[in-house]
Amino acid sequence: MVSSSLLPLETPSQAHICPFDQACSYLEQAARELRMDQGLLAVLSNPRKVVTVSIPVKLDSGEVQVLAGHRVQHCDVLGPYKGGTRYHPAVTLREVSALAMLMTWKCALLNIPFGGAKGGIALDPARYSVGELERITRRYTSELIKDIGPAVDIPAPDMGTSAREMAWMMDTYSVNVGHAVPGVVTGKPISIGGSRGRELATGRGVMIIVREALAERGQSLVGARVVIQGFGNVGSAAALLLHQAGAKILAVSTGSGGVFAEAGLDIPALKTYTAQNGRSIKGFPGSVPITNAELLTLPCDVLIPAALENQITEENVNQIRASIVAEAANGPVTLKADQMLELRGITVLPDILTNAGGVVVSYLEWVQGLSYVFWDEERVNWEMEQLMVQAYHKVTQKSKARQIPLRLAAYVLGVGRVAQAVTDRGLYP
Ligand code: GLU
Repeated sequence: MVSSSLLPLETPSQAHICPFDQACSYLEQAARELRMDQGLLAVLSNPRKVVTVSIPVKLDSGEVQVLAGHRVQHCDVLGPYKGGTRYHPAVTLREVSALAMLMTWKCALLNIPFGGAKGGIALDPARYSVGELERITRRYTSELIKDIGPAVDIPAPDMGTSAREMAWMMDTYSVNVGHAVPGVVTGKPISIGGSRGRELATGRGVMIIVREALAERGQSLVGARVVIQGFGNVGSAAALLLHQAGAKILAVSTGSGGVFAEAGLDIPALKTYTAQNGRSIKGFPGSVPITNAELLTLPCDVLIPAALENQITEENVNQIRASIVAEAANGPVTLKADQMLELRGITVLPDILTNAGGVVVSYLEWVQGLSYVFWDEERVNWEMEQLMVQAYHKVTQKSKARQIPLRLAAYVLGVGRVAQAVTDRGLYP
């Protein structure tokens, strides 16, 4: 199997489902389908640049802690590197590298002129004060100052970060270079050049792809039975938009468990409830508690894993009772489980398509920033919808034409586009 000589080996406990090895396996499958030569495959398997920095931070208690921050730049053949910044305790360099590679294929699939990157710090944001998080974010940005920039690498929010962190990153970068540089990040607040529609963008993209997939089966979102794992940035936005479109959201969850209602959850009321309850969904009136494991196995039309990687595995895949699995998270289905879902005739809407709405609106934010013309939300949503629907149809057409699953079709399109660009540009020197 291809791998990268730049990255450290995974520790044995993580070795059984290493996200980077999985990403390389999908790349290899696409390479076989594309009859790619081994040299080109080796180029695409390796990130171009891997940066790890140490982030010393003075905590509110006066104690000094040193965190490790990563930024992996996978490929910039089509344009500046692009990708989120993840704050989560499970962040590792190999995970960030896998996610950077996914960003490359995602941007290429959506036909937006970016390469792929990802950043991350292994920390649990809930255990740090706002002041501590600000100091961590600013030091991390400062350490990466030579590696990011509007024409170089443009970070955005990911799990555990939001517009607030992007504002700190933009400010730190700007102060260091001596003038305001809004284009250094996307997903920033509207007051400093953010785009309308960015906050709900990934969730909106999920809703669009699910809607298209159901329509192809002659079904509608109205009355569709949907289960969502995760109620963070992506899961809660997808839940809200699907609910508004008439779907019945049977269950949602957070890391500490979920809530279930056979008749469907009132999502706007649940959002208000979580805002008032320190983000907890526990005890939501009219619902019964459910574990994350139970939630994944509920019978439904659409199951949307919108949390971490490796949630649907060999262990639970045979209990999945959804007709469609829509990957709102990155890599929520393991390679083995993916093959088993395919054998069972369960459609998997792949992450690089399904959750691309976020980076698509990041692209629209970048375009608005470059042209100094800012659009209303309707225009942003419309432009995003065009790109998402086009990509969906390209993927389904490719899948039908080659008789391959949707994920492989999406990879063939994304990887194929990047491979062509590498070939046309040629190797330097
Ligand atoms: N973190 C998001 C993703 O995984 C968005 C990245 C971006 O907007 O650059 O696609």
